Amino acid sequence: MIGFYILIFVLGVSFGSFLNALEWRLNKEISLTKGTSKCPKCEEKIKWYDNIPLVSFFILKSKCRNCKKSISWQYPLVELWMGLIFIFVFCHHNVYQNLILGNTDMLPFIDYIIFIKDLIIVWILTFIFVYDLKYMEVSDLVTLGGAGILFIISLFTNADWVSMLIGVAIGGGFFLIQFLISKGKWIGGGDVRIGVLMGVILGWKLLLLALWIAYVVGAIVGIILLLFRKKKMKSEVPFGVFLTLATFVVMFWGQIFLDWYMGFVSL
Ligand SMILES: [Zn+2]
Repeated sequence: MIGFYILIFVLGVSFGSFLNALEWRLNKEISLTKGTSKCPKCEEKIKWYDNIPLVSFFILKSKCRNCKKSISWQYPLVELWMGLIFIFVFCHHNVYQNLILGNTDMLPFIDYIIFIKDLIIVWILTFIFVYDLKYMEVSDLVTLGGAGILFIISLFTNADWVSMLIGVAIGGGFFLIQFLISKGKWIGGGDVRIGVLMGVILGWKLLLLALWIAYVVGAIVGIILLLFRKKKMKSEVPFGVFLTLATFVVMFWGQIFLDWYMGFVSL
């Protein structure tokens, strides 16, 4: 059992490593198929043994072997997060009990598709979170491409695609209206794309909950930044960070909250 989870962890870490590489290459507009990994500071090619996810960072004491300049903490943090979150998703779907032990209440095929879809979603959300935080940009490829792929996958599950389409209309429309009214001053065009993606992931009910959480958390963080760092009103923390965070929380725990809330109102 421990061997199984180590395997899953390593798998997650590898996807985290791929995420880091893709972010770097996407931002620098370097083709994914072209060339090997290089140090961003001195451009020296990185040897394979210095390019082992999670491990090399600590062996090298977070410094490039060639130029001794520091390597960003983003690399091990994203890799560690993806490793842990893969284990979480596997546990969430009881994959070990059902797939490996072959319990009698074996998951139907649809459940496996939903499970793989969840892995893709957490990867996409992490990608958007880190990219928006680091570069203050949102990648069309990952948001709209991801939304398209997830929508197609959902057609093979028992997902409520009507709710998803309404979610896309609300999520995209909500930000598009703000974007048009403010001529792009309140929010970026990237938030419109994230809104569309959120609609596909959550459907319209959970989308509304996620938007609410994103705005509340965003406001609290904004106020804290204003108080402690005396920043101007114009937020320096990109909103995509809060949107992806809220989507992550709501996709796993939103339904529990909605059920509780509905029970609460109907009392
Ligand atoms: Zn270097």
